[in-house]
Amino acid sequence: MTTSNKKGTAAVWAGEGDLNVKGAVTSPIANSVAFSYTDLDEWHKVATGKADGFIYSRNTNPTVAALEEKIRVLEGAETATAFSTGMAAISNTLFAFLTAGKRVVSLKDTYGGTSKVFLDFLPNYNVSVKLCDTTNHEEIELEVAKGCDLLYLETPTNPTLKIVDIKRLAAAAKKVGAVVVVDNTFATPINQNPLQLGADLVIHSATKFLCGHSDAMGGLLAGKKELVQKVFNFREINGASLQADPAYMIARGMKTLELRIERQNASALKIARYLKAHPKVKDVFYPGLETHKGHDIAKSQMSGFGGMMSFALDGGYDLVEKFLPKLKLVHLAASLGSVSTLAGPPRTTSHVELTEEQRRLLGIPESLIRYSVGIENVEDLLGDLESALKAM
Ligand SMILES: *Cc1c(COP(=O)(O)O)cnc(C)c1O
Repeated sequence: MTTSNKKGTAAVWAGEGDLNVKGAVTSPIANSVAFSYTDLDEWHKVATGKADGFIYSRNTNPTVAALEEKIRVLEGAETATAFSTGMAAISNTLFAFLTAGKRVVSLKDTYGGTSKVFLDFLPNYNVSVKLCDTTNHEEIELEVAKGCDLLYLETPTNPTLKIVDIKRLAAAAKKVGAVVVVDNTFATPINQNPLQLGADLVIHSATKFLCGHSDAMGGLLAGKKELVQKVFNFREINGASLQADPAYMIARGMKTLELRIERQNASALKIARYLKAHPKVKDVFYPGLETHKGHDIAKSQMSGFGGMMSFALDGGYDLVEKFLPKLKLVHLAASLGSVSTLAGPPRTTSHVELTEEQRRLLGIPESLIRYSVGIENVEDLLGDLESALKAM
């Protein structure tokens, strides 16, 4: 498309004309901030929402749109929109709906960042926040019935994999006209579809299982059109948009999501059963175990129990300090949902801000280890745990 041989002009325009690579078998990364028009009337139509198209990447971008379409279909939603991180998806959703005078009901066990929005940020904007005991369904129903504008759920929870009944609580919320939002990060859309259980909106930290390789951050929101649109209008001005590069990485990861999750479901169940039977392990938290308090609900709303678990050693934190460095096939790191196994103590990772007493109240033993099962050979992972436990 070059119109000049002069270096300054050629450096800018040469080769830039044909933006659609004909015959490419993957969607290109549209690293373009803006999208140009030769027809000013068409541009105006797109800008005013009367025609489909892209204008400016803070609003929409073709690579990001491809990712949004993937989660829309996987969650069975009307529409979806993407964010720069999982926390951006969560905070933009909460702030879009919870204006001054509104009331939100949620759980004590939500993700650490989410909990901070509830406890430290929203009250400053005159939003009333009620956090209930996570598995006390009667208490949650009672609080919802008192009147609430938004019910925010997360299941399974971090780090003790508590399970809440989405269908039951969504039904309670419907009676008072509250919007039901579910953070589905731990389950993934392969194992659980909250919208089919009565939720209005589903959120993912795409940084975790969806991307699956610990190399890109993003957040996704899917659900009813007018509700997603409300959050989109907030996000496009608030500016927490996802860029094309990480959108491509996440979409690439999602192509193998089902394969990874099937493997992680199977490995995690084997590992949980092994740990449960081990004399040096005091407790195992995995919803796939028949002994797990939420197993029946999990069985009714999940098609697989996921790759996340935690377990407590029979002792205090000193045992964790001895045990974790002995594991060879893990990264001791804060994230989860990756191809590689990741482990860490909640008192260093998800619940670092809490005191020992606060963790105890949440049922988090000091000897707890969060274990995110990767896609490695499961016999290798079992062997790794076996030798680390034996050396204790
Ligand atoms: C990690 C995580 C988040 C936050 O996502 P980021 O991409 O780190 O902002 C939210 N919810 C859950 C359950 C998570 O695990």
